[in-house]
Amino acid sequence: MSEETIFEKILKGDIPCEEVYSDEICLAFKDILPQAPIHILIIPRKHIKGLHEISIVDKSMLGHLLLTSTKIAEMLNLKDWRIIINNGEKAGQTVFHLHVHLIAGRELKWPPG
Ligand code: 5GP
Repeated sequence: MSEETIFEKILKGDIPCEEVYSDEICLAFKDILPQAPIHILIIPRKHIKGLHEISIVDKSMLGHLLLTSTKIAEMLNLKDWRIIINNGEKAGQTVFHLHVHLIAGRELKWPPG
């Protein structure tokens, strides 16, 4: 069995986080190493390593993650923000529990690095 990720430990309450939003499907909290003034992670309570593991049964949960990111952006009165999901090491994924980054509060360049 693969080792428990830091996000599973956060979900279980074994490691603290700065919670922003929580419901029965997901948890959102501040990134420990923010890349912008606002950097929030939205993670599903269901353990999925990344986008490469999703299937049709996850359709509603995936939609929920996006809807939640907009709900949080509205809570924070954001007008401009970016959503990122890194999948795989070479794409920058370091924690292998699916997560959506919500980044805002500074001008964001395109393309990302
Ligand atoms: P990834 O690189 O996998 O797309 O994103 C993982 C994110 O999790 C990184 O932005 C990193 O700063 C954040 N992170 C890693 N460990 C912790 C932690 O223990 N607490 C919080 N709040 N964020 C973490």
